[in-house]
Amino acid sequence: MSHSSTQLIHHPYKPPAGFESVSPPVHKASTIIFPSVAALRSRDWKHKTGYTYGLHGTPTTFTLEERIASLEGGKFCTLAPSGLAAVTLVDMALLKAGDEVLIPDNAYGPNKAFAQAELAAWGISHQLYDAMNPADLAAKLNIKTRLVWLEAPGSITLEFPDLPALVDIVKAHNQSASQSHAQGAVTAIDNTWGAGLAFNAFALGIDISMQALTKYPSGGADVLMGSVVTHSEALHQLLHFCHMRVGFGVSGNDAEGVLRGLNSIGLRYAAQDATTRQLAAWLQGQPQIEAVLHPALPDSPGHAQWKRDCSGAACLFSAVFKPDISSQQIDQFCDSLKLFRLGYSWAGPVSLCVPYDMPALRVARPWPHKGGLVRFAVGLESVADLQADLAQGLARL
Ligand SMILES: *Cc1c(COP(=O)(O)O)cnc(C)c1O
Repeated sequence: MSHSSTQLIHHPYKPPAGFESVSPPVHKASTIIFPSVAALRSRDWKHKTGYTYGLHGTPTTFTLEERIASLEGGKFCTLAPSGLAAVTLVDMALLKAGDEVLIPDNAYGPNKAFAQAELAAWGISHQLYDAMNPADLAAKLNIKTRLVWLEAPGSITLEFPDLPALVDIVKAHNQSASQSHAQGAVTAIDNTWGAGLAFNAFALGIDISMQALTKYPSGGADVLMGSVVTHSEALHQLLHFCHMRVGFGVSGNDAEGVLRGLNSIGLRYAAQDATTRQLAAWLQGQPQIEAVLHPALPDSPGHAQWKRDCSGAACLFSAVFKPDISSQQIDQFCDSLKLFRLGYSWAGPVSLCVPYDMPALRVARPWPHKGGLVRFAVGLESVADLQADLAQGLARL
């Protein structure tokens, strides 16, 4: 060790054993050094008893996986580099050529797009079902169905489905399939809205809970990550091995960002929920608005199911404008807002809005409204300021 460049790499410093910080340390690695060939050969990353390579996990990502699993009331967690990557991980781990996946018509759009493009090209078919009509799911389940996606509430339109009824239909289907020695279907929920806080997916009998950690767990609008949680070791192994083969690692710095956000997730969820309910109720009374979609509003589709199954609601609501307000006027309304910024995603500090062309997004159940729709995501600003912003925008119409 004569050369300084070698000394720089093989440095003797180790942090002192008594240094216990509040936040877990950020471990970053591609390479992990083994003390011997025997250790290299015997290390087991599959059961998290050892570390082999950064892609297979670090102390920081294992810590985050444990916290997300406990947040959701599950046992096993796998992290993916985005919420969408977590969706596609579930699809790739559970589906093979000849299988079929059922997806709610009102699901997160890119979940449907992956089925329409990649899954179709791989010989895996899909059908869109009306999540607000359990009979439609019952009619579409068939001997090829291996995976049923659930989402509560629907992305953009926020209808809250009867999750226990949908789960019961899949369970009944699986029971009759097993009698004829056929394989059944697994249920997976996109639980980004509930975030493990509004309801417990496993208590409702769902097999897999996937989340975009990009949203509430991060809370900062600055990290992309996803998670897949299960109770079943067999399902976890399928997900875990697929995860290894597709190389869906996450970075230590990003994991640290989510760990930091998790400290305040309960407070943020409750605060954004309260502001959102106030704004949604106020907007419902405005003359330019035909309907406000938010599951806590009594007229919103699925309100009774939300009330029965949930202890909270997230930061989203959508407004349907009166049909005499043109789409150009709605675009101008969005452009005129000062605090609600134009941008995708939600659950960060800044309030956001996006106008959507709803009829184009619907297949299984025709969209019932004629007027345009804007989805609002409420941030951490004061409710009075946000309401004043919406009021000045409406006054221009
Ligand atoms: C944002 C979102 C995702 C995808 O998360 P990304 O990290 O942006 O890929 C998936 N599902 C829902 C419901 C979302 O809102």
